[in-house]
Amino acid sequence: MTDSTDTRIRRAMANSTKGETGRMTLPPWVRDLDLDAVDDVLGWRDPKAPDRGVLLLPGDEGDDGVVAIALRAGERAARATAMCALCRTTHAPGRVELLVARRAGAAGRNGDTVGTYVCGDLRCAQHVRVEKATAALRPTPGTSVEERREGLRERARRFVDAVLS
Ligand SMILES: [Zn+2]
Repeated sequence: MTDSTDTRIRRAMANSTKGETGRMTLPPWVRDLDLDAVDDVLGWRDPKAPDRGVLLLPGDEGDDGVVAIALRAGERAARATAMCALCRTTHAPGRVELLVARRAGAAGRNGDTVGTYVCGDLRCAQHVRVEKATAALRPTPGTSVEERREGLRERARRFVDAVLS
């Protein structure tokens, strides 16, 4: 029998304690994911603990397909129009938030974190697919959906590397 998606995601959490991982609630669409087919940067807020979120992306060799990072909402959301550092979508005020990841290992135990301003809903993969900009949501002008997806994957990978370094 193969492990369930639920089990594999909990195991893929790279910067959480076992206790934290056990307390996570996964949204239904996440439990239905085919982790071997993930080719986007996916993210969600915990339905029962909305100040917490998860970023999930295709893993490197030896990562069991995916790697996942636990995030915590830091301060309040940006009050002005702001751009997500991962997908470079510009959002209306209040939609981009500072999310913070505890670094893995000893650094994290000493309280080290890495923060980034990102789409508060963590749905970067959807936002880069928006074809037509609106006042509330504007992908990087002059780029194709494919270029934006590629950029998102690269920047998310760098963020994960910073958390794991
Ligand atoms: Zn984003």
